[in-house]
Amino acid sequence: PDPERDRLIQAYEWSAKFYHYLLKNTEHGKAAMEYLRARNFSDKMIDQFQIGYAPDRWDTLLQFLEKRNFDLAEMEKGGLLSARGEGKGYIDRFRGRIIFPIANRTGKVIAFAGRIFGEGQPKYLNSPESRLFNKSRILYNLHQSKASIRKTRQIVLFEGYGDVISAWEAGVHNGVATMGTSLTESHVALMKSLADEIVLSYDGDRAGQAAAMKSIPMLEGSGLRVKIALLPSGLDPDEFISMHGGERFMDQVIDSAVSSIKFKLIYLKKNHILLEEDGKIAYVKEALEVIASLHSSTEREVYLREIASELELSYDSLKQDCNLLRASMQ
Ligand code: ATP
Ligand code: MN
Ligand code: MN
Ligand code: MN
Repeated sequence: PDPERDRLIQAYEWSAKFYHYLLKNTEHGKAAMEYLRARNFSDKMIDQFQIGYAPDRWDTLLQFLEKRNFDLAEMEKGGLLSARGEGKGYIDRFRGRIIFPIANRTGKVIAFAGRIFGEGQPKYLNSPESRLFNKSRILYNLHQSKASIRKTRQIVLFEGYGDVISAWEAGVHNGVATMGTSLTESHVALMKSLADEIVLSYDGDRAGQAAAMKSIPMLEGSGLRVKIALLPSGLDPDEFISMHGGERFMDQVIDSAVSSIKFKLIYLKKNHILLEEDGKIAYVKEALEVIASLHSSTEREVYLREIASELELSYDSLKQDCNLLRASMQ
């Protein structure tokens, strides 16, 4: 029995309900609701993910918790309140933010992510780490997606909360996201215990693609199969769905996810100007490193032939270089 933990869980559960109510039913929540609508969040998803709004005031949640006799020092430690700058007392930690409740595997709310709405920094403010909440172990939406994950043995991994929510509406019911941190070994171990295959659906910007390059060896190292969903540059999954709809997201992004080798080749190619000899040679060199590391000679042949025809090179010379590289790798 851990009464302090139970009290904090109770406080989070009630606070989540309270913020959700404020979003939907009060004057304070109106502009936030309009913002969510403009971003194509449906009422159904707002309810299902219990999205809320923390008004831009100092004492909204403070009063709510006080009235219910919560210990305010405890609430501060648990991340719902902040200590007042000078003097004694507490203020709301989340002010003027859209609230995304973060649940643990059993569906208990254990933290909030608050997105600024309007001007201000940081864009996302999370609950601090607490006895309930360890960022590097939590996957957003795991409690709702685990049924589908169990059935498909597959997880679709996103960067952001909005991506998970929009993708859910598009039909991806096995989607989770990390909490804005990069993927940790704990995340990988957790996913490996639930699934055989990961579809990485990171943002289509440089940061997202670089994050995918970093995540692939971690995931494959644990024995998981990895596929990568490709997005037009600049868009994230949520933006793609808003612009092109859920069906196109399913067909052209999720179901068209490519192998990790293919993704690496595409990623490396972007750094070179293939119309110039130097660029072409440099790309081939990097690509061969990737291909040479493949154990299957069939797979090596497939990719070597692709590069040969794409860059108008002979398969034989590519194969020769590849074999030289393999010999030096032994
Ligand atoms: P939105 O669509 O609301 O702008 P996003 O999810 O697309 O948000 P990104 O900038 O792509 O946001 O960042 C991906 C994820 O990284 C976020 O969902 C959040 O978890 C995390 N993140 C981004 N900025 C911050 C920040 N300043 N502090 C903490 N976490 C952050
Ligand atoms: Mn991003
Ligand atoms: Mn994003
Ligand atoms: Mn986004």
